[in-house]
Amino acid sequence: MYDKLIFEQSKKGRIGYSLPHEEGPAYPLPSAFAKEEDLLLPEVSEVDVIRHYTNLSLKNYGVDQGFYPLGSCTMKYNPKINEEIVRNERFLNIHPLQPAATVQGAFEIMQSVSDWLGALTGFAGFTFNGFAGAHGELIGLMIMKQYHLQRKDFKRTKVIVPITAHGTNPASSSLCGFESITVASNEKGLVDIAALKQVLSDEVAGIMLTNPNTLGLFEQDICEISRLVHDCGGLLYYDGANLNALLGLAKPHDMGFDIMHINLHKTFSTPHGGGGPGSGPVGVRKDLLDYLPNPQIHQVNNRFEWVNNPKSIGRISGFYGNFLVVLRAYAYILSLGKENMKDVARLAVLNANYIKESLKEDYKLPIQDICMHEVVFDGLINEKATTLEVAKRLLDYGYHPPTIYFPLLFHQALMIEPTEVESKETLDGFIAVMKQIAKEACDQPELLKTAPHFTPVRRLDEVTAARNPIVKYRDTLHV
Ligand SMILES: *Cc1c(COP(=O)(O)O)cnc(C)c1O
Repeated sequence: MYDKLIFEQSKKGRIGYSLPHEEGPAYPLPSAFAKEEDLLLPEVSEVDVIRHYTNLSLKNYGVDQGFYPLGSCTMKYNPKINEEIVRNERFLNIHPLQPAATVQGAFEIMQSVSDWLGALTGFAGFTFNGFAGAHGELIGLMIMKQYHLQRKDFKRTKVIVPITAHGTNPASSSLCGFESITVASNEKGLVDIAALKQVLSDEVAGIMLTNPNTLGLFEQDICEISRLVHDCGGLLYYDGANLNALLGLAKPHDMGFDIMHINLHKTFSTPHGGGGPGSGPVGVRKDLLDYLPNPQIHQVNNRFEWVNNPKSIGRISGFYGNFLVVLRAYAYILSLGKENMKDVARLAVLNANYIKESLKEDYKLPIQDICMHEVVFDGLINEKATTLEVAKRLLDYGYHPPTIYFPLLFHQALMIEPTEVESKETLDGFIAVMKQIAKEACDQPELLKTAPHFTPVRRLDEVTAARNPIVKYRDTLHV
């Protein structure tokens, strides 16, 4: 019954609302506005509607239901108190066109978060105008371009991107008009210094890197990389979408980076996924501050105001970005405190290494070194099932699968990020299931090949589902 779509539950004349009876005269609608036929709406009771939507929501899987080890994407618990705070009307109802004097508190919050992110990363200041990580990358690269243009250095048309980079890196570089050059990884999964030296030239505007990289490994040669790129006149861009491995322990600026972005919707409390609101603040070293997008926050005698800086790359969004996402970061940083910030990093790294050590007898571990916040396996050691089949079988046990077939370095990549918020019991439960699946692959391989068995839908044509989604009800009677 509850599997039926709401239109299929419709019974003529059944209603789920009652309008109040108004006293007084009725005013007929002008005929131009009057509808001749009834609207095509399902006729259902209130309970039908509530049950329909509740059951629909249960078909989804979210971080509030269970473990979500999606690597390179930091899906973690987001404190619910922060959701309460952003729903406070004093924040909800302020308007971007209000006079600056009436929103000094909002300015102070943005300035504080900029200062705190600066203390955590070593950068001089941040802009919150970007709406996502990829948007932050574009802003950062526009700043890189502006830096070279101001120096009348017009030859720099190339940006170096390592093979392990997140897909948005080469995309942002192209969008900004640069040519992306790929640089290979060595056998340890790190940037190959010899390969890097070969592509460096006076045509290189800079390099985009993340550290730890997308294999979850710390680029130990980062100081050497920084020296090489700077010596040839380029800048270093840091992709800080997932910052939880470093918080309070290491600063990208100290590693030699010049520009970076952070995903507040991954590391600093805002839930992400499903296209919800995001924020990709961009931080720069001191001499690049002028280039940040307009408007910029300016503070004179304890009063804040917006200014348009003539050296800026200009406006990149309407108004000032997603303020409520910045507010969640403010609450998150304040409630966590400086000391606990370090524990975020320590626990993220500990949890990933615990999984790495616990699963390495069942899953191939191409790189044995200590990992940071995530670990990448290369499929089952027994090779009796593919990574896709393992991932589908995980659904039967009630887990969201890890990231699969990324990074591209390995053919059967399984990229697991447990995050800092999971307990040992949760990790042990997941490890036991992963081992069980490895055993099933030997004993009952059919079970994996036909998985999932217990989900509302089985295997989907994922490409068609993404390219041509059907998001409205199509009744055969009235299309
Ligand atoms: C998520 C992510 C991005 C892109 O962030 P969006 O907000 O999805 O645009 C970039 N780089 C890395 C490493 C990421 O994990």
